[in-house]
Amino acid sequence: MISLPGMDRVWDALPEARMVGGAVRDMLVGCPVADVDFASPLPPETVMQRARAAGLKAVPTGLAHGTITVVAEGRGFEVTTLRRDVATDGRHAVVEYTDDWREDASRRDFTINAMSAIRNGTVYDYFGGREDLAAGRVRFVGEAARRIREDYLRVLRFFRFYARYAQGEPDAEAVAAIIALREGVRSLSAERVWSEIKLILKATDPVAALRLMVQTGVLELVLPGADVERLALLVARGGPVDPLLRMAALGPGNVAAFAGKWRLSRGEEARLDKLMRREMPHPEDDDAVLRRALAVNEAAVLVDRSWLYGGAGPEWDGLRTRLLGMARPVFPLQGRDLAALGIPPGPRLGALLREAQGWWLDGGCVADAEACRAWVLETAAKADT
Ligand code: ATP
Ligand code: MG
Repeated sequence: MISLPGMDRVWDALPEARMVGGAVRDMLVGCPVADVDFASPLPPETVMQRARAAGLKAVPTGLAHGTITVVAEGRGFEVTTLRRDVATDGRHAVVEYTDDWREDASRRDFTINAMSAIRNGTVYDYFGGREDLAAGRVRFVGEAARRIREDYLRVLRFFRFYARYAQGEPDAEAVAAIIALREGVRSLSAERVWSEIKLILKATDPVAALRLMVQTGVLELVLPGADVERLALLVARGGPVDPLLRMAALGPGNVAAFAGKWRLSRGEEARLDKLMRREMPHPEDDDAVLRRALAVNEAAVLVDRSWLYGGAGPEWDGLRTRLLGMARPVFPLQGRDLAALGIPPGPRLGALLREAQGWWLDGGCVADAEACRAWVLETAAKADT
């Protein structure tokens, strides 16, 4: 049984709770478990009272769906009361509480996600999840088409878990249902789709899942024009597991339009925009060229571009190491330095400052403030004659 700090306190307060979902699955495959969710047959109010009586903090973070976050030893654990679906419309579900573990498991998406475990490590597996996990099968709990119609996000979730756990051929029933019902993903909110795309791209090797998304016509719906083979190249080169870098490899086309469509954060949009530009040094470049590149771009951005537009192998690794080891050159003059030299404020001062920076860049960013000032004075004097 896995044990994270705080888990014992939760179990002391809520002995009938079980660990559920991803934590059980990842424990069984031996993946590190960072996040443990619990389920409980007790109603949320009782969960909250019990946790507080045991001296734990209990926050009703998702009371609408029966979730209390219990904080123990600085770590938050979501404890959700067992539920059963009353109505579903493809995007939202109306649920009611139950104390039936099997019923709660049957509304979960895949057999590998529907297991639960008690404190002593006993795993409850109502739908053959353990066997599917061992065989690398991502299979819906129940009839695939019905489960997708209840919630179209499950189409994308299928590929998330396929990317992480699948071996061999995908489940034929799931694939057929996804092809038949794929248009339903259009009804999902932009935030849910984008967050699911990132989770797919977080898998160590998402290429097989993305190829399956191409075959089922789902990729064209969510990322029209994406080029999976370019991403395959990045993965084969040993590029970092970085969803946004991988997104850049897939090629979103027009970044602004893409960012607007999926409501990327400003930070994500700015980074993607930088990644889509190709300027970067090459392994044979000398330090002056690298300094010039670093004067206008962060090292991390150049390293990212080297993965996208450069290559693998010792010479590219060497370039990345050099970039990360070099200090970023900073142009040593500002407008006020030129004013102090007697250059009158105005457009001419701005132009001279930019020229000076150009001269500094051309020289490999080695001129210090003194040398830059001398160049400015000389250039200003020449212009006056
Ligand atoms: P991860 O390691 O990616 O977080 P996870 O299994 O914890 O994987 P979550 O999205 O965090 O996945 O969801 C937790 C659990 O809730 C799942 O394991 C599954 O049992 C259930 N679940 C979540 N979303 C759905 C859904 N749309 N339909 C059915 N069950 C779901
Ligand atoms: Mg999770």
